[in-house]
Amino acid sequence: MRITETKKITDFYGCYVFNDKVMKKYLTEDAYNELREVIDRDKVLEKELANKVAEAMKEWSIELGATHYTHWFQPLTGTTAEKHDSFISVDKQGKIALEFTGSNLRKGEADASSFPSGGIRATFEARGYTAWDCSSPAFIKKSKDGSAVLCIPTAFCSYTGEALDKKTPLLKSMDAVSRQGVRLLNILGVDARKVIANVGGEQEYFLVDKSDYDKRYDLEFTGRTLFGAMPPKGQEKNDQYYATIRDRVASFMADLNEELWKLGIPAKTQHNEVAPAQHELAPIFCQANIATDQNQLIMETMKKVADNHGLACLLHEKPFAGINGSGKHANYSLGTDTGLNLLKPGSNPAENKVFLLFFLAVIAGVDEYYDLLRMSCSSLGNDCRLGGHEAPPSIISVFIGEDMKNLLDDIVEGHTIASATKQYINMGVNYVARPKRDTSDRNRTSPFAFTGNKFEFRMVGSSATLSTPTMVMNIMTAEMLSRISDRLENVPKSQLDKEILTIVKELYQKHSRIIFNGNNYSREWLKEAKKRGLDSADNAVDAYEALNAKKNMEAFQKHGILSIKEMESRRAIYIDNYVKSANIEAETALMMARKQILPAVLKWQYKLAKQVDELSDIDPKFAGTPRRMLGEVSVLVDELDEDIVKLNSAKEGALSAADPRKQAILFRDRVLPAMAKLRATADKLETICPKDVWPFPTYADILFYE
Ligand code: ADP
Ligand code: MG
Repeated sequence: MRITETKKITDFYGCYVFNDKVMKKYLTEDAYNELREVIDRDKVLEKELANKVAEAMKEWSIELGATHYTHWFQPLTGTTAEKHDSFISVDKQGKIALEFTGSNLRKGEADASSFPSGGIRATFEARGYTAWDCSSPAFIKKSKDGSAVLCIPTAFCSYTGEALDKKTPLLKSMDAVSRQGVRLLNILGVDARKVIANVGGEQEYFLVDKSDYDKRYDLEFTGRTLFGAMPPKGQEKNDQYYATIRDRVASFMADLNEELWKLGIPAKTQHNEVAPAQHELAPIFCQANIATDQNQLIMETMKKVADNHGLACLLHEKPFAGINGSGKHANYSLGTDTGLNLLKPGSNPAENKVFLLFFLAVIAGVDEYYDLLRMSCSSLGNDCRLGGHEAPPSIISVFIGEDMKNLLDDIVEGHTIASATKQYINMGVNYVARPKRDTSDRNRTSPFAFTGNKFEFRMVGSSATLSTPTMVMNIMTAEMLSRISDRLENVPKSQLDKEILTIVKELYQKHSRIIFNGNNYSREWLKEAKKRGLDSADNAVDAYEALNAKKNMEAFQKHGILSIKEMESRRAIYIDNYVKSANIEAETALMMARKQILPAVLKWQYKLAKQVDELSDIDPKFAGTPRRMLGEVSVLVDELDEDIVKLNSAKEGALSAADPRKQAILFRDRVLPAMAKLRATADKLETICPKDVWPFPTYADILFYE
């Protein structure tokens, strides 16, 4: 029975989270206050307090059935990792006690040798450390049978201190944008101690029947279908978007929500997406590192709950060719500890200096660092998605809407900020009502869109972590804020407004090429973008080179995010991962073609030949149709055989290349096209073969399950 049948959401929300309420209950008042300082004011967690907090966590989690604890972290594989230790300790007399100390809480030691490090450490230097990220709350993971583990969100680094995870640079980038944000705010006379990067991650996913999934090696090994002809009906009628949610899916969603609410994840919106079998979930936004942790848990929980429902949850960016892929929209804003949203235009944006400067800092940041943004959402999987079927193109631009454009144009055309405002009022534009108007008239084709009081970065792939894109948004913004402050810092107060106006004009003029309010899916835009000199990489292999660019290295150094060695190691890991993933795809395609498709169609070909023979015995004119079919199948069977050989040799060639980047380039330029060719032939065969001949479920079966 579902909890919601007997309890209100508010009664069980966050019951598996070591949240404020639990802290108050299990800690003394003094310890609670000290811990809040650590969390809210970034104070150091001293040993004594850590001991008290650890004791409280132990007590609380054991009451909820926990037997183990784990430092939960995000290695560079892009997933999460955990090593469970039980609370058990044995004293000299052999007596058992349950123990969890402050040092267990603060720091863990993990064997790092099997996690990718991109050459940072050799296998014999296996030590890795995990350290508690106090700002992200500890939580309990319960399995279906009731066993429970206390999870402590942590950062992961090597013995020599280099980051081996995705969280460390994210946390550092949050500090950087906070530092630079506070600096500018102080110049502008706004009181703030902290600037917080907030993120709301919308998660798209597919649900398919587990029994179909289990019959497809491609879904199982690569997360996407490597074969499959389009069914007669796809998404052309758009009758799935926002459609009534079927009972089976509704029941999945209800259980998913319950699990997420228990984990304190504010799952808010759910609906059917455009493609058949595609859905979306959006939680309420929060501080970026917490949003990132929550998103990892959302993905994990989706898979688990789907399995309980006899379903499989597909998080790949393009599980099915020919219909929409899945993204993860990263909604980004910056707020102060006093609750001010720095990207909110307010009722009078023309006079809102804070808004104008932060707004333009983000836009200028996108323009200067679009290669890093492009890198941050690049993967083999997302290469299949970007630029097709309602996914943003790989060219990065910013949508700001007509109102914002008019406002900035006006300022540039020489009106003072005050008179620009007046003109707006004269024009009858009511900015108070603006956000409402935006939501109904938004540009859904833009990769990076201003949506009223936040930017929505839509290129991120559905399976990616939010940490890297958010890290990049933080760095680019921090850098631009820092440049603005450099200019304003020594300007006398009386001249400040004038200088701000000059900066606003300059930033807008200098970076206006990145602003595009039109249709990003159109061919004209591709041409226009080229004219403007916007040439974002159109594939992951090239995009990863952003980690090698001097200007990017400088920004990472300046803001203390990653060392050059760490950036190089990341690039190496991404390329290695690309090669390995592409190789798995090629091997899977070959296996399915050789072991499933070819034998099946050969059988069908033989059957047709027998029919031709037998019917000809009666009368040759009876054998016309099977003879024609036999001809058609035979041509395609030969082609398939040839395609298999070609794919195999392309793959072997790629693997034998001297260095990883060359391998990646060969996989991109030779192997993937050979896979596409093999697929095209197989798909043609699928459309002409009888249903019972085909060796695995087709798109029609998978996408339109009951
Ligand atoms: P959409 O129409 O694209 O589905 P919504 O307005 O429903 O967009 O919001 C999508 C996501 O943006 C949600 O996760 C929401 O919590 C988040 N969001 C809303 N406001 C902000 C903000 N100021 N900063 C960051 N994320 C936000
Ligand atoms: Mg969205």
